Amino acid sequence: MIDIINLHKKFETLHVLKGINTSIKKGEVVVVIGPSGSGKSTFLRCLNLLEYPSDGKIIFEGVDITDKSNDINKQRQKMGMVFQNFNLFPHLTIMENITLGPIKLKNIPKEKAEEEAKLLLKRIGLEDKANNYPVQLSGGQKQRIAIVRALAMSPDVMLFDEPTSALDPEMVGEVLEVMKELAAEGMTMVVVTHEMGFAKEVATRVLFMDEGMIKEEGSPEDIFINPKNDRTKEFLSKVL
Ligand code: ADP
Ligand code: MG
Repeated sequence: MIDIINLHKKFETLHVLKGINTSIKKGEVVVVIGPSGSGKSTFLRCLNLLEYPSDGKIIFEGVDITDKSNDINKQRQKMGMVFQNFNLFPHLTIMENITLGPIKLKNIPKEKAEEEAKLLLKRIGLEDKANNYPVQLSGGQKQRIAIVRALAMSPDVMLFDEPTSALDPEMVGEVLEVMKELAAEGMTMVVVTHEMGFAKEVATRVLFMDEGMIKEEGSPEDIFINPKNDRTKEFLSKVL
């Protein structure tokens, strides 16, 4: 689904991504772990061109999205993104947050979009929040809304950047639960997280990033039980 070829990203003189090569296959749940500042967010943001790569190529569903002549908006609709801080529109209701994209970008009639949104809200048990504003919701509720807002666009892949890092501990579980259900349904997912339990349980592949490179990748067993790289071992000894 996504081929990442020799991806580099520099901010001025800061060389953040130093040649990332990997592929994300349909149905995979790829969990990205690694120390703070290692380039995990930059990597994720390059996948949908929220950051433009300094070098290298990203091929999404057969299209070179890094080709300057490509209009990214079409592919971006196929890539849902969930951020640490929810990024809901504060001045819109939950219903409006969810239906905005389908109505404006996909030209879906309002009634149809709202019908779909209700089903999504029902699925996460928040159908009674449709007319509330984000500020009236808990962090866990906001993040579950952010997930279904992304799903409302019927994406082919979902990108998550530390979706539970801004939550109070008692709300982490409800968000991970929604993500686990998505994974079980076969959604292709790339997840940056510090939730090692989630990684062990749900990941089909784990990437360990350090200093702008993928230093090691493999199954959860490979990475968590038999890590080979010294930096992986050192990182895991701090977080496990
Ligand atoms: P991680 O998500 O692994 O913590 P990031 O990708 O956020 O790492 O950041 C990697 C490095 O890139 C850090 O040194 C960070 O300060 C720097 N960086 C990230 N975004 C920008 C930006 N927009 N401008 C300048 N430097 C940035
Ligand atoms: Mg980050």
